Amino acid sequence: MTPDTPDPLDVTARTRLRRHAERGHHDRATIDAILDEALVCHVGFAVEGRPWVVPMLHGRDGDRLYLHGAVGNHLLRSLATGVEACATVTLIDGLVLARSAFHHSVNYRSVMVFGTPWLVDDDQEKRAALDVIVDHVLPGRADDSRPASPRELELTTVIGIPITEASAKIRTGGPVDDEEDVALGHWAGVLPLELRAGEPIPADDLADDVVLPAYLADPRRPGSGR
Ligand SMILES: Cc1cc2nc3c(=O)[nH]c(=O)nc-3n(C[C@H](O)[C@H](O)[C@H](O)COP(=O)(O)OP(=O)(O)OC[C@H]3O[C@@H](n4cnc5c(N)ncnc54)[C@H](O)[C@@H]3O)c2cc1C
Repeated sequence: MTPDTPDPLDVTARTRLRRHAERGHHDRATIDAILDEALVCHVGFAVEGRPWVVPMLHGRDGDRLYLHGAVGNHLLRSLATGVEACATVTLIDGLVLARSAFHHSVNYRSVMVFGTPWLVDDDQEKRAALDVIVDHVLPGRADDSRPASPRELELTTVIGIPITEASAKIRTGGPVDDEEDVALGHWAGVLPLELRAGEPIPADDLADDVVLPAYLADPRRPGSGR
């Protein structure tokens, strides 16, 4: 169980932004919205003093970040033994093109969560967490797929990371060039980027009478506004 968390989160020595502190946020609404919209989470921790970072899918339920994988998964086995982890997610909103190479940047929204993961071994919580992850990837999909069998559940490790020590960082706006560079003839501005779903491609063996579910007609990332 995770404790009740304050909102905004307490700023710790670790989550206090030093570089561009004005871009930092510690309120739950900002942190949760970024976690929910991001499709991919990178989870890092130390193995015998050496760094290890793995891209994974995730899901959030309140102040819990859930991750899952095969029982043999190196990361999940290690995390389940109580080592500290840092999970990050990033949304790229645009490329910021300045006149000078030095001032190029990106518009982004990112979150870093620090915490000691716990192993989710209660079957009911494990099933609920897996539903959260499936629905995080595509809202509505958990109810529209076969739930894990007892054997599949055994083969799956689920861990939770409390969202109690975390920060968000957001960059918006155009390039910030040095004054003497503004008159240079290089194009400057922002190239917006977004994650868009393409047309669904039916499986080769999909029966003709299976209709496209409504949630696939216009899929959106939660909170993305599109
Ligand atoms: C897509 C992307 C690309 C980036 N590219 C670069 C790059 O090429 N070079 C570069 O120097 N920086 C880059 N950044 C910014 C980078 O993430 C760091 O914010 C920055 O490097 C400052 O690092 P620091 O260790 O000095 O931060 P500090 O301000 O000292 O970090 C202290 C604390 O602030 C919080 N924090 C810092 N950065 C972030 C963040 N991005 N998201 C959430 N919380 C944060 C954490 O809690 C961290 O422990 C990029 C960010 C994104 C999202």
